[in-house]
Amino acid sequence: QAKDAGRNTARFFNPTMQKAIESRMALESALRQALLKGELQLFYQPQIDQHGHCFGAEALLRWRRPDRGLVSPMEFIPLAEETGLILPIGQWVMDTACAQLKAWESDERTRSLRMAVNVSARQFHQPDFVAQVQASLERSGANPRRLKLELTESVVLENAEQVVSRMNQLKALGVSFSMDDFGTGYSSLSYLKLLPLDQLKIDKSFVRDIATDPSDAAIVRAILAMSQSLGLEVIAEGVETEEQRRFLCENGCHVFQGYLLGRPRPIEEWAASAEQREDAGQTTPCGSRL
Ligand code: C2E
Ligand code: MG
Ligand code: MG
Ligand code: MG
Repeated sequence: QAKDAGRNTARFFNPTMQKAIESRMALESALRQALLKGELQLFYQPQIDQHGHCFGAEALLRWRRPDRGLVSPMEFIPLAEETGLILPIGQWVMDTACAQLKAWESDERTRSLRMAVNVSARQFHQPDFVAQVQASLERSGANPRRLKLELTESVVLENAEQVVSRMNQLKALGVSFSMDDFGTGYSSLSYLKLLPLDQLKIDKSFVRDIATDPSDAAIVRAILAMSQSLGLEVIAEGVETEEQRRFLCENGCHVFQGYLLGRPRPIEEWAASAEQREDAGQTTPCGSRL
């Protein structure tokens, strides 16, 4: 709003607004530097099937600020989107995730893992987005069939036809798609018919009270029934308790992501935790404890 008011109206800014603007500008310039200084890092969170088997991971961005520690993407992705910094950052994420995927492929124990990468609306709508993803895949040598792009409903808000054609171009390369945060956006169910999606990701806000709130339980059941009839795979995010996992499992959701199954971790720790899981023989069927 301050921006809309024009550059010459600075005299109307009160000290609080002034402060907010200054801290935003400071954040922007720090973020601009972050990429160059190598302060960005990917964490990986395991995705687990009903047998407790880890079949992949979601790449989640972190910013390691020397003076402030680890910064959550919630604190800088929105600004990165507004300023366009998400474009170089998104490119770096894609390159880094694809390189990691390739590294997994070269190791017997991790060969079959898949990688899910978040793509923001602005990134997706870049004219050369398809070429960029293709270039990341080629540079890394990673198998496109193991790469899944997570889109949010905001991607579909503009130019649905172009979105479909772009998704189809990527699908032709072997890449698959998940609709992230499903049910929270400005969604219209009609896009489920329109878009060549492979997976729906049930948002964690529905999962949280799934075992106690009948509305959330009903919404999740509806999403599961719908996905089944549309032939879409479903994954639940934000699974924190065994109770939630059991409810999901009993209602036909067999793939999970959440603190119960594993937190997002840097790659060094991630490998160790995956091995631990295997050593502990935690490959138990639906309903029992992981
Ligand atoms: P998201 O893609 O929906 O990712 C899931 C978020 O839930 C992650 O937050 C993850 O750490 C968190 N989470 C995982 N398990 C649990 C759980 O059991 N309970 C709870 N309460 N939360 C859990 P994170 O890492 O802070 O990322 C937040 C959002 O930032 C992501 O939401 C995604 O929209 C965005 N983001 C992260 N990395 C990237 C990226 O590389 N590119 C873009 N464009 N966006 C990203
Ligand atoms: Mg995601
Ligand atoms: Mg999500
Ligand atoms: Mg989200």
